[in-house]
Amino acid sequence: MKPILFFDMDGTLLDLAFDDLIWNHKLPERHASTHQYSPAKSLDILQAFYQEHKHTLSWYSSKYWTSKVGVDVLQLQYEHKEKIAPRTGCFELLTILKEQGYRCWLLTNADNAGLQLKLENVDLSPYFEVMISSEDIGYSKEFVEFWQILQEKHPFDPEHAVLVDDTAPVLQGAEKFGIENLVTILQPSSSKAARNALELEYPAIQDLTELLTYLDSIQLKEINVKTA
Ligand SMILES: [Mg+2]
Repeated sequence: MKPILFFDMDGTLLDLAFDDLIWNHKLPERHASTHQYSPAKSLDILQAFYQEHKHTLSWYSSKYWTSKVGVDVLQLQYEHKEKIAPRTGCFELLTILKEQGYRCWLLTNADNAGLQLKLENVDLSPYFEVMISSEDIGYSKEFVEFWQILQEKHPFDPEHAVLVDDTAPVLQGAEKFGIENLVTILQPSSSKAARNALELEYPAIQDLTELLTYLDSIQLKEINVKTA
């Protein structure tokens, strides 16, 4: 039986370099010019916000950020939308999975506005039967509640599911819920160095097509368990 495949968006299917550019460079710049602060002061203020709200739903909400920092962060992202790009192997993998009849769901902590922006620029929609923003669930993916509510809305068997996500706390949340197969990404952002696979808690892939080998291996394991 083919497992159901859950994919994260930013840093997994899409290059996180865009988000790094916006949050670490363009937003501090815009924040500084809007409030007439020095770039260093804006960076300090924003870093403090990032730390305070990391992994919460607010952290992923463009509306929240706009109200909190006085910069229209969604508009800022639209101004740089040409930089939104898929990661290596993204469409190659999705095309093969579609041909092979895998069911793929896109599960993102991006809010609906952010999801729409990304989909307008990289057309992932044809490959997914379900696309969900955690904004609609009411919890971010780091929380077990996200997975419980998702399962109530869209039934699935966690023992026959694979989650590919670049964020460790998300994978930990999914593991706590009982998602059997967890895969992470070696280099979520092309503007940063790859992580060390040995320091990561979960099997890691670089080119997304490497997932195909992983899928073969878990299905082989399942056959061996049945025939043992
Ligand atoms: Mg991600």
